[in-house]
Amino acid sequence: MQGLMMNRPLKISDIITYAAEAYPSAEIVSVRSEGDIHRTNYLDISKRMAQLAHGLISIGVKPGDRIATLAWNGYRHLELYYAISGIGAVCHTINPRLSSDQLTYIINHAEDLLLFVDLTFVPILEAVKDRLPLEMKIIILTDKKHMPKTSLKTMCYEELLKDKPQKINWPDFNEDTAASLCYTSGTTGEPKGTLYSHRSTVLHAMMLAISLPDALKEGKKILPVVPLFHVNAWGLPYAAPLTGAGLVFPGPKLDGDSLFNLMETEKVYSAWGVPTVWLNLLQTISKKQRPPVGFGDVVIGGASAPRAMIEDFEQLNINVCHAWGMTEMSPVGTQGNIPYKLKDISLQDKLDIKAKHGRRLFGVELKIVNDQGTILAHNGISQGDLYVRGHAITAGYFNNAEATREAFDTDGWFSTGDIATIDCDGFLTIVDRSKDLIKSGGEWISSLDIENIAISHPDIANCTAIAAPHPKWGERPILIVIPTNGITPDKSSIQNLLSKHFAKWQIPDDIIFTEILPLTATGKVSKLTLRNMYKNHFLIKDTK
Ligand code: ADP
Repeated sequence: MQGLMMNRPLKISDIITYAAEAYPSAEIVSVRSEGDIHRTNYLDISKRMAQLAHGLISIGVKPGDRIATLAWNGYRHLELYYAISGIGAVCHTINPRLSSDQLTYIINHAEDLLLFVDLTFVPILEAVKDRLPLEMKIIILTDKKHMPKTSLKTMCYEELLKDKPQKINWPDFNEDTAASLCYTSGTTGEPKGTLYSHRSTVLHAMMLAISLPDALKEGKKILPVVPLFHVNAWGLPYAAPLTGAGLVFPGPKLDGDSLFNLMETEKVYSAWGVPTVWLNLLQTISKKQRPPVGFGDVVIGGASAPRAMIEDFEQLNINVCHAWGMTEMSPVGTQGNIPYKLKDISLQDKLDIKAKHGRRLFGVELKIVNDQGTILAHNGISQGDLYVRGHAITAGYFNNAEATREAFDTDGWFSTGDIATIDCDGFLTIVDRSKDLIKSGGEWISSLDIENIAISHPDIANCTAIAAPHPKWGERPILIVIPTNGITPDKSSIQNLLSKHFAKWQIPDDIIFTEILPLTATGKVSKLTLRNMYKNHFLIKDTK
């Protein structure tokens, strides 16, 4: 027997219509590429979204068309998120840090019809002009006054909105309609597209809202350092308006000092981003000897948050939520809040839990399996390949049958490429990415475990552990270190620290000092680049 309830489609436009009515004055603050600060709220931005939707229709955008964005975090980018999806077209966010080959590959693969670009990124497009689809129109996210001189044929964003009606009846369509498209950074092979639907996006926003109720609530302001140009800024553009939380968009300036100042002036409560960003902010905090006023919560994900970083924040009374996820999961899969039954434990015990990678969100199922495909127990010890299934998890890559075939097991679970354990309280621990594990003499060494301990050394500002091919052991770990304040630490003091936590064979054979670590397009340390750089490290030494 069927239930007898209305079956309204879950649509992204419903979120902004709701926020405009329920939280009209909740603020959206943006640092603009033009250099100033812009302020709006959910009611006013909903009117501009309607104008933009009318503008898009007026230049011929149809349901299903892919419309690209190449932009910083700001209100205009948010307008594009809602207006494009709202009329049934697909918002294709592009990461400006991709190489020109990857950038042109995904624009052509997605068959983008229009591209909205921030002033800052116009030169990127000029450089690849000849490799862009001939019929693609480029619209610059600025007003008439700030339109740049360029060899590209462009239109002006504010002119597209001008004089358009501020009201719209957002159309109804099937909730499985595609809403947005994001390509993985493609560190190996060509980038692969994850095509989110209206249903998956709205459900993911609700999943976030119930899982992070402290940050996502009316009266709080959230700073997404995590970019709108990649994985929908972890779902914040949808979850914040759903809950009435305000948004503070940092624009192009993401260094520690700029973030500190913006957070303080705008009274940001919660900030979300990858660990590399927080290393910079912590340096500013240490310089000023205090956190920004009002800062009480940080969500860290995208790469493992070192225990020492979590401790630094917690010592300042800033709650750390350590989350894990991936592009193909919309992206958030877990949240690292402390279980209620443990709320009174000591700081050190708390850190042990927070250094893990959180408990699953409702709607995300996790399984770990061994090489034979047998499901392993959630006992915190058995480690295996991590698979996921759920309402906001990809069912296949966009126009890429081969990558799709490889990504799922026979029961339809998605392979994350991570090796993990799950304990009896439901906490996931990512042991490593399977590609980053170090295999020495037939035994596995977790690069994350080594980094986690090494970074607690006072003279280490950042570090990464990688495998280097070795003639005798297959691979051996090496540790690459950025020293604190440029003072090169004594190698033996690092080895001593590591020897307190690891067996002798797990300790890196070499420690290399550097001033910078290469980053991926999403701001994580690029182990692939480092592995290539050091692939002959032991081989050359041994032939001498
Ligand atoms: P990106 O978001 O940079 O495109 P992916 O979606 O490929 O990259 O990144 C997902 C991967 O990042 C996960 O499979 C996992 O290996 C890693 N990751 C994400 N969050 C965490 C975390 N909190 N701790 C450890 N690893 C993480």
